[in-house]
Amino acid sequence: MSEADALRVALTFDAEHPDRPKGPSGNAEAILDTLRDARIRATFFIQSRWATSHPTTTERIANEGHLVGHHSKFHAPMSLLSDDGLRTDVREAEEEIERIAGASPRPWFRCPFGDGRDDPRVLAALNDLGYRNIHWDVEAEDWEDWQTGPGVRDRIVDGVRARGFRDVVVLLHTWPAPTAEALPGILGALDAEGVRFVTLDQLEEAQVP
Ligand SMILES: [Zn+2]
Repeated sequence: MSEADALRVALTFDAEHPDRPKGPSGNAEAILDTLRDARIRATFFIQSRWATSHPTTTERIANEGHLVGHHSKFHAPMSLLSDDGLRTDVREAEEEIERIAGASPRPWFRCPFGDGRDDPRVLAALNDLGYRNIHWDVEAEDWEDWQTGPGVRDRIVDGVRARGFRDVVVLLHTWPAPTAEALPGILGALDAEGVRFVTLDQLEEAQVP
């Protein structure tokens, strides 16, 4: 394996909040356009209530070769749900995501807000349901109102650089305008460093010796 082959970044996008007043799926569609034009596949953690509100965009995510993951039904902190509540949330959402996307989200799960990622009860329940939680290494607070396109770009690129460009999981979201604006610059800057963009399944395969 050459040195350059070891530089891998998995871009992950949480698709969530169907009721958010920032408009329909314009930013998600712009993100998908950018990825398509750059021939890059990413991973999308989809909240099932977002999928039911944005079925066309959900279908497009899977059709364009992106990896589909599970981001719960109600986007509630998983540690606050009872065992039964957690099981119901995950199963119902799985059925909806799979029906709309046409792809199973298993085994990829991302806990809303990262809550529950270190809670053995939550992790065991997810495991029983066929999932494991995927946290992230680098984020840009792209959900904050004060964030800007250049701010997102610089935070992501600097964060990935700080980790040596090696097997870095990046968290972004589909709905903020700064994220859609930043994405071409992120792709360009990391491509110039020799980074290869991978989906989470490829990243895990790559880690097997
Ligand atoms: Zn989320």
